[in-house]
Amino acid sequence: MSKARTALVTGSTSGIGLAIARAFAAEGMDLMLNGLGEPDVIETMRAGLEAEFGVRVRYHGADMRDGAAIAEMVQATAGTLGPVDVLVNNAGIQFVSPVEDFPVDKWNDILAINLSAAFHATRAVVPSMKARRFGRIINTASAHALVASPYKSAYVAAKHGIAGFTKSVALELATHGITVNSICPGYVWTPLVEKQIPDTMKARGLTAEQVKRDVMLAAQPTKEFVTVEQVAALAVFLCSPAAANITGSNIAMDGGWTAQ
Ligand code: NAD
Repeated sequence: MSKARTALVTGSTSGIGLAIARAFAAEGMDLMLNGLGEPDVIETMRAGLEAEFGVRVRYHGADMRDGAAIAEMVQATAGTLGPVDVLVNNAGIQFVSPVEDFPVDKWNDILAINLSAAFHATRAVVPSMKARRFGRIINTASAHALVASPYKSAYVAAKHGIAGFTKSVALELATHGITVNSICPGYVWTPLVEKQIPDTMKARGLTAEQVKRDVMLAAQPTKEFVTVEQVAALAVFLCSPAAANITGSNIAMDGGWTAQ
């Protein structure tokens, strides 16, 4: 049985983060949710998780671009739910542009949210994890932590950065009962992805099936989207005693994309 009791999942109001939060709640973990969204929608989600799984669920609205707010969120989690056993650095954004036109504010936001936020949260949870000789730090990276695509310079730089951060911190913490890994999904079926289909159909004169197979899944050999539940199941496994010797790994879940 896992020692993990309390989890903090950044960017858990949507998509992969929400699926990880649900899977952790199903394992009996208390949760601190984080992310953007309408307050009433988030409150419904929070209360729904509590009711469905009988665990304690709180929400903190820290902006992942703000290191002080991230540190405060870690403190607030410890204060309300207990010290963080599992940290999932999941919040992320994307922007696509040729490098010479890449807006500087978008570059700064992507590096802050997709990379630096993980540093701020990790440094805040490590002292207590070390003192308790247990911790799981899981970063949602991407296939783009391992390979590149054009026009995604900030995202690919941040995700390659998180892969290196994962390895370095794993080495520092290896003898402290704390593992540090990243999950590197390929194309995951999220509402964000689904919403892009009508526009792409129109722009390219394709059917929905053609957009999925020939555009979105062009690089994914299985020609299937990864599901959020599959990513969440790997996160649950990484919290288990069976995963105690998996550390410093950037684990691909990409339908074969990075095997090519
Ligand atoms: P999503 O847009 O559904 O979720 C992103 C989450 O991050 C949301 O909860 C959002 O509110 C939060 N967020 C964004 N900016 C924030 C900020 N400034 N402060 C606090 N929270 C903020 O997207 P997703 O697809 O679930 O992405 C989650 C992670 O998975 C990201 O790191 C993304 O890069 C990664 N990923 C996604 C895919 C995919 O195909 N969907 C593939 C590989 C990796």
